[in-house]
Amino acid sequence: PDTLDSIRRTIRDVPDFPKPGILFKDITPVLANPALLAQTIDGMIEATGITKVDKVVGIDARGFIFGALIAARLGAGFIPVRKKGKLPWQTRGVDYALEYGTNSVEMHLDAITPGETVLLADDLLATGGTAAAALHLIGQAGGRVLGSTFFIELAFLGGREKVSGPGPVHSLITY
Ligand code: 5GP
Repeated sequence: PDTLDSIRRTIRDVPDFPKPGILFKDITPVLANPALLAQTIDGMIEATGITKVDKVVGIDARGFIFGALIAARLGAGFIPVRKKGKLPWQTRGVDYALEYGTNSVEMHLDAITPGETVLLADDLLATGGTAAAALHLIGQAGGRVLGSTFFIELAFLGGREKVSGPGPVHSLITY
């Protein structure tokens, strides 16, 4: 609880970023603090109850940081889900709706072998559109989703509904 309080106090609220009216949760001060970074990664893993998994999938771009650290800790491989056009090899993609317009994310075709167990990780769950798209790609690749773990959940946006299909959803800090 003390640790979670310190982490919570260290997350920085930035008004009107990246657009007017949005209160952005800046996690970089947590990343910069050695003790809080370690406790955040441990907490995101402990919340899932998972001790063994084949692959951790992280979402462009802050999900790479959390996902890769979690993967190293669990002895798993790390798989990036990236914005369209960024991955060099053959990909599978999916479009998803944003508040205004659409977005597209991709994963390498050979990233996940059918039947492998997968944990999804990202920094923040908002509407759930991004994570749902990643889960879709994992499902298409034949991955068995053990769950999803987020550093922060903006619960008032209801994203949990969208991502809880394939496995349980966990978050360390909830607003
Ligand atoms: P969603 O698709 O759930 O609406 O949005 C989640 C995605 O947007 C995540 O990949 C996350 O990195 C990014 N995101 C949205 N709002 C914030 C925020 O306030 N802080 C941070 N760090 N990321 C955000």
